[in-house]
Amino acid sequence: ARVLIVGSGGREHALAAAVKRSPKVAHLAFAGGPNAGLAAIAERVAPEDVEAAAARADLVVIGPEAPLAEGLADRLRAQGRIVFGPSAEAAQLESSKAYTKEVCALLGLPTAGCEIAESLEEALAAVERMGAPLVVKADGLAAGKGVVLAHTQDEAEAAVRNAMDGAFGEAGHRVVIEEMLSGPEVSLFALSDGNVVREFASARDYKRAYDGDEGPNTGGMGAVSPAPGFTDALCEEAMATIVRPTLDWLADRGTPYIGVLYAGLMLTEDGPKLIEYNVRFGDPECQIMWERVTSDPYELLYATAAGTLADAPLEVSPDSAVGVVVAANGYPGPVGKGERIGGLDDVAAAGAAVYHSGTMPDGADVLSNGGRVLTVVSRGATPADARRDVYEALKHLDWPGGRMRGDIAL
Ligand code: ATP
Repeated sequence: ARVLIVGSGGREHALAAAVKRSPKVAHLAFAGGPNAGLAAIAERVAPEDVEAAAARADLVVIGPEAPLAEGLADRLRAQGRIVFGPSAEAAQLESSKAYTKEVCALLGLPTAGCEIAESLEEALAAVERMGAPLVVKADGLAAGKGVVLAHTQDEAEAAVRNAMDGAFGEAGHRVVIEEMLSGPEVSLFALSDGNVVREFASARDYKRAYDGDEGPNTGGMGAVSPAPGFTDALCEEAMATIVRPTLDWLADRGTPYIGVLYAGLMLTEDGPKLIEYNVRFGDPECQIMWERVTSDPYELLYATAAGTLADAPLEVSPDSAVGVVVAANGYPGPVGKGERIGGLDDVAAAGAAVYHSGTMPDGADVLSNGGRVLTVVSRGATPADARRDVYEALKHLDWPGGRMRGDIAL
């Protein structure tokens, strides 16, 4: 079979590497920017050639949210392609927080109480009514930067003014104001073929830049799968009260969800509650979770895209996987690029999987080309084993310009 992966980050490198493990896959392509890891295992096609490349593929897997939100999956399916990734309609679960909150209200899903405001006056009135502590969120995609945890009334008012001021462009024209929940956070990933829903895996990610969860928010500095403390009972509860009702509702109203649904949950004293939905695999959670999949990855992705998920082999090892992101110094601020990264073969020889995010090839060399540059993953019988192995392997990395957290899965 021929597979096209849309996107060129660490998530897509991991998807490509997984698919490549299948004896059924003869040809692999990816669409996006330079990525030395992807380029080593797949043919690169320019983003403007996606439709032509899709026409030659048996399966198209769309990695990132942006092309999903702008309707790439719809366009390709209209052309008869088998596509892993939801429609633009269903992708609103990620692209609009207000839409998700409306779905939660309609279906009575457990989530933080909230009000949606369309003007500054409405927003200030909501802050007044609800009372701090509150969480203020710009609607729309703001790459995690549109969320303020306001512990006092003054902070909440300031956050509302800032959001309505256009700090987040179009994304800030509506503001979602939520009750503040507390508890450990878990990411739950489920596959849906438009009809059948199956649990995939869980993970916990590490969003802050520095050890001890200090410093600014990032795209993610590492993750562990399965999520510690997320028992089978809690997982079943979250599937039954949150994930399945959402996907069943989408199917019933004629907008079936095809792909992976990522539920960001908080495990509160009253059970799992939905914080947010994403309509794709997380990066770096994707790199870490696929390390645990022991059945054929191509068959699983194909079955999800083709509507035959019920019978597809889906085996995930009870082992743990731990992944550590190596970022360029300065990330999430401005970073240097074009630095040579050495020791990658030695890291791999030590038994870890190396996935590239912001890299580019330069002859036989690999150069840094972004903020988050690598995700290195090990699997072990326990999180402690996986953690020990991944940091051991990372000692072989030779890149003075890179930094990582030392406390992933600790
Ligand atoms: P991301 O880029 O992390 O996906 P986002 O912009 O989609 O962010 P959310 O996921 O809704 O925003 O919120 C970001 C983070 O803020 C959450 O991971 C969680 O830690 C915290 N948070 C969001 N809503 C709440 C809430 N109601 N109570 C407590 N914490 C919250």
